[in-house]
Amino acid sequence: MTEAFINLRFLDILDILLVAFLIYELYLLIKGTAAFNIILGIFIFYITWIIVRALNMELMGSIMGQVMGVGVLALIVVFQQEIRKLFLLLGTRYNLNNKFSFETLFSREKEEDNDYHVKEIVMACDAMSRSKTGALIVLVNKTELQEFVDTGEQIDSRMSGPLLQTIFFKNSPLHDGAVIINKGKIIAARCVLPVSSKRLKNDRLGLRHRAALGISQATDAQVIIVSEETGKLSYAYNGTLHENLNPVNLIRIIEKVYEKQNR
Ligand code: ATP
Ligand code: MG
Repeated sequence: MTEAFINLRFLDILDILLVAFLIYELYLLIKGTAAFNIILGIFIFYITWIIVRALNMELMGSIMGQVMGVGVLALIVVFQQEIRKLFLLLGTRYNLNNKFSFETLFSREKEEDNDYHVKEIVMACDAMSRSKTGALIVLVNKTELQEFVDTGEQIDSRMSGPLLQTIFFKNSPLHDGAVIINKGKIIAARCVLPVSSKRLKNDRLGLRHRAALGISQATDAQVIIVSEETGKLSYAYNGTLHENLNPVNLIRIIEKVYEKQNR
């Protein structure tokens, strides 16, 4: 035993440090993503298996053992996309535009890559509020909203204030329903959102506000509402509706949420 300890070579230490470093980097990368929860789930399963075996619970142990046996295969299936990207990146590393980086593996964009156009969006809402043009705008955060995008008309255009106002202009064919914006791009218009059945303090609020609340309950999206009846600006996030905000406060609130998300 002691002899084996003395035989610990410098390279072994390097080996351990390297693995520790990689595990730590991996942790930083997947922290807060779905991958983190998957790995946590696997870890919990593994610990349970060890305990079950230590307690000699034969039946449970053998069932879990069977699952562990195909564990590697299961991992490949679960992380198929990431593994594919890894090999693709390794294979194309001589292409300067595709420089290797772990970040691209888990597709987490850095803050500086995200220009959310918050001011431009809110200024357009302010203009619509003055002209009493109704609007419903969903700002995508982490959760994908593909199922709601699919209910509307795909647009996929760079975010611009005039475009946003054109969409919600009363006689425009796209003015009905919600616009979905993701990282500086107007993804879709005329989308149908789930209507919340929550009791509201202000019972004069109609379906537009309820739809905003509904999507904010179901996802982590932020939603801006311009009322057609009153011209008021409202905002829904995390299942709460904030009524009658001024543009400056609205910009502050939205930017704060994005900041938190990127930390
Ligand atoms: P406003 O103050 O603008 O009148 P409101 O909350 O009273 O808002 P309604 O008058 O009921 O809302 O609906 C106005 C518009 O809201 C509809 O014409 C439609 O464009 C949009 N809307 C209603 N329900 C949904 C929904 N489920 N998803 C997306 N948009 C919706
Ligand atoms: Mg109404």
